[in-house]
Amino acid sequence: MSSGRGELGKTRLPFWAAGFVVLICTAILALSGWREWETRSAELRTAEVDVANVAQSLIQHADDTFELADTILVGLVHRLELDGMGPDTIAKLQTYLPTRKSSDRIRGIFVYDETGRWLATTEQVDISKFNNGDREYFQRHRTSPDRGTLIGRPVRSRSGGQWIITASRRINNPDGSFAGVALLTIDVAYFVGFYERFDVGPNGSASLLNNDGIMLARSRDESSAYVGRDLSNAPLFKEWKSRPTAAVYYFKSPLDGVLRLSYYKRSSQYPLMVLASKSQDDVLAPWQRAAAVRMSYVAGLVLLIAVIGFYLVRQLLQRQRMAQALVANEAHFRLLAEQSSDMVTRIGLDNRLLYVSPSCARVVGWSPDELLGNSAVAGIHPEDLERIEQTIAALKNGEAEEARFVFRQRHREKGEIWAESALHVTRASDTGEIDGVVAIMRDVTEQKDLQDKLASLATTDGLTGLANRRAFDERLAEEWARARRDGTQLSLLLIDVDHFKKFNDHYGHLAGDGCLRALGKILASHARRTADLAARYGGEEFALLLPNTGADGCAQIGEEIRDGLRDLAMLHAQNPPSRLVTVSVGAATSLPSQTATDCNALVAAADRALYAAKDSGRDRLVMSGQVVPWPAKSA
Ligand code: GH3
Ligand code: MG
Ligand code: MG
Repeated sequence: MSSGRGELGKTRLPFWAAGFVVLICTAILALSGWREWETRSAELRTAEVDVANVAQSLIQHADDTFELADTILVGLVHRLELDGMGPDTIAKLQTYLPTRKSSDRIRGIFVYDETGRWLATTEQVDISKFNNGDREYFQRHRTSPDRGTLIGRPVRSRSGGQWIITASRRINNPDGSFAGVALLTIDVAYFVGFYERFDVGPNGSASLLNNDGIMLARSRDESSAYVGRDLSNAPLFKEWKSRPTAAVYYFKSPLDGVLRLSYYKRSSQYPLMVLASKSQDDVLAPWQRAAAVRMSYVAGLVLLIAVIGFYLVRQLLQRQRMAQALVANEAHFRLLAEQSSDMVTRIGLDNRLLYVSPSCARVVGWSPDELLGNSAVAGIHPEDLERIEQTIAALKNGEAEEARFVFRQRHREKGEIWAESALHVTRASDTGEIDGVVAIMRDVTEQKDLQDKLASLATTDGLTGLANRRAFDERLAEEWARARRDGTQLSLLLIDVDHFKKFNDHYGHLAGDGCLRALGKILASHARRTADLAARYGGEEFALLLPNTGADGCAQIGEEIRDGLRDLAMLHAQNPPSRLVTVSVGAATSLPSQTATDCNALVAAADRALYAAKDSGRDRLVMSGQVVPWPAKSA
């Protein structure tokens, strides 16, 4: 782990992941779109080949048809010009003509004189009624010396009423003047019938046009709506000259408004062209249906990737935010641990230190590096060690959550300090199992010293340094109980300075204090055993508690005290006869295990002995056993 802050934990991974997902989605969509476009183009190319093949067949058919017409007309004109147009010739012609109409392609053959009057025809009609002098082809042949075959616009037949296409030639007199016209008609329906054999789709069409843009025949033209239409204004014809003789041509039909894919081809022999077309919608419809299905699968896949990607990126962002929060928290806690004056440690289950805060240098004098990995209880005073080890074991066993204790701890420079530790178990965040202990330790030496001082103040007499009355009372009760338990004797000396009021009055209070201190020292020097207790009982009255001491021993010590005082030889002018400071001593010994009374009986007995000592002249020791009961004295 690093102690870096801020940017730590924040990476550009979510950004890249989002970018990657977008890239994948875009790539899938682009590839699918490209593939669909390729399929579409392939469909159109196939359709282009289809219409080109159709156009090829149509132009071949048109050429064949008009070649046949041409051959018949050439033969007919040649014959008429040779034989002339006399009645005999015409009569012969009338019988000859039907033989020329050998093919079903040819609707009728007609011969007109120079005025347009019908001379002969293959039609079964009364020819005297008709005159075709008004027809456009007739006018053209009369005015033009051109001997070629003229393919005219579609017209309605005068004989049958149906739409026909005309092919005509001029007939000359021997002098070259206009003699009439030979005409051959082909039913538009013939072309239409032929064209409908080709499959160009429900909205496709096949058309025959002349080079002026006039529609001669068109498939699917039941009501003859298109025949004769002038399409010279359509773009195809406008740029006629610059166009190749055959090509694929896309256009919006001026006839039905359908967008068409077509192939046109011009005849090399006649001023004709054919146009085979399919509706682009028809061509693309199967592809459109399949593509819609395929693209919906692709869109579903892309959506799925996008959704998964979105969740992944959101997850990444969340983790990043959590990591950042963790880093921030870690920084806070590290700051708390490292800036705290207390020494924070983490103790593993093997009692080794896993973490030690820097303040350990101040608290125990060693640096964190020196402590890490070492035993957490190293440096604890041997007397405190067992108790603490037991406590830590209890924490690790889950018997307690926290513990607090004060102990003596080794310090590198100071030798030994008093330390207080607060322990708390830690648990693994995933399993909840106890995985160690956190200890917060501080140096409490000063408090401990102060505490000890207060405790001693509470039990010590300020003037003499002996135990005070309270400490004496407590100790008396304890020793009484112990003596009762152990079956031992307990003795008590009560010591009172004689005529001390007068001493004070005579030498002053300060001198009185000095006297009391001197006596206190003597008493302290006679509390020889550890269980002995010298106390200031109150005012100028002292007590010496002597456990496990019999009456003789007790009396002996009392006498020794009096001796010690005598040796000091403190002057007390008001205390005759010695004129030195003296004390009266009341002594009592008890065997608590053999009496039903409590410790107050011992004090009362010693007190009575003291009174007796006072009464009997002071400066002496009286044993309780020697005391004559009160009523006996008065008796
Ligand atoms: P007796 O021989 O009967 O004991 O006479 P006494 O004067 O010693 O007894 P009393 O109880 O009448 O007087 C006790 C005196 O001890 C009164 C008080 O002034 C003095 N005294 C008590 N405590 C102290 C102290 O701490 N310092 C001083 N200088 N005098 C004290
Ligand atoms: Mg006194
Ligand atoms: Mg007194």
